[in-house]
Amino acid sequence: MAFKHLVDLHTHTDNSFDGNHSVMFLCEVACDRGLRAIAFTDHLEMDAFYRDQFDRTALQAYFEVAKAKAVFQGKLTVCNGAELGQAIYDRATSEALLQKMNYDFVLGSIHNLPQMQDFYYMDFDDPAVDYPALLRQYFETELALAEWGQFDALAHLTYPLRYIVGNYHKPVEMRAYAELIDAILETLIRKDKALKLNTAGLRQPIGVTSPDESILRRYRELGGQLLTIGSDAHFAADLGAGLEEGYELALRCGFECIALYQHRTPTLIPIL
Ligand SMILES: [Zn+2]
Ligand SMILES: [Zn+2]
Repeated sequence: MAFKHLVDLHTHTDNSFDGNHSVMFLCEVACDRGLRAIAFTDHLEMDAFYRDQFDRTALQAYFEVAKAKAVFQGKLTVCNGAELGQAIYDRATSEALLQKMNYDFVLGSIHNLPQMQDFYYMDFDDPAVDYPALLRQYFETELALAEWGQFDALAHLTYPLRYIVGNYHKPVEMRAYAELIDAILETLIRKDKALKLNTAGLRQPIGVTSPDESILRRYRELGGQLLTIGSDAHFAADLGAGLEEGYELALRCGFECIALYQHRTPTLIPIL
């Protein structure tokens, strides 16, 4: 199925420590691929904001994207965004940043538990790593993030599964977390926040979106309507990757629109 309005609201440029291409180049690639809109959401890890100089990258990224907005006007909708990691570990800094920056779109993420390393770096084969307990703590943290609610969309709700299930092939009993996940989804709905469908998993060993179909269906069932989608591309080659599959999945789960954010306000774009 071909979709007319493909929007990729989660991408990284070389202003992210793990990004690879410039804002301008990515805009050109987005135009070539026929994307209607793109949001640049470079990493700002709020629990290490000054220590790791994210204060500098935040400004650099913001001005580069502002320039690209002007250059590509009329050809591509460019949204100036950020992926705030661990915002609730330093609420004062996060809230001051959001006051200061005139973002279009803010993703809320948790990549690590307090005082711990990113799930990406953990060894889940180590018997000392109690991953079911870590996962419970992770979902509790996601709930606290949702309750804080000063972002627009909650990114990759099932982030640790990428590694626990995808890379380490550990069994995870998701029913154990069903109540917590319901509480997260209900909080998003109550606060008019979007759930973000991350298509990166489709090109990773886990092979499914984050969250997957069952959680997406549950969100819809509970009354969730605001859904954003993004590739989480760190390379130009991945720009827009998996968007079509994501749109099909969203349709299957009962969504008719995808949300695009400008000035922190959603516009609903019909999927068909
Ligand atoms: Zn992330
Ligand atoms: Zn990301």
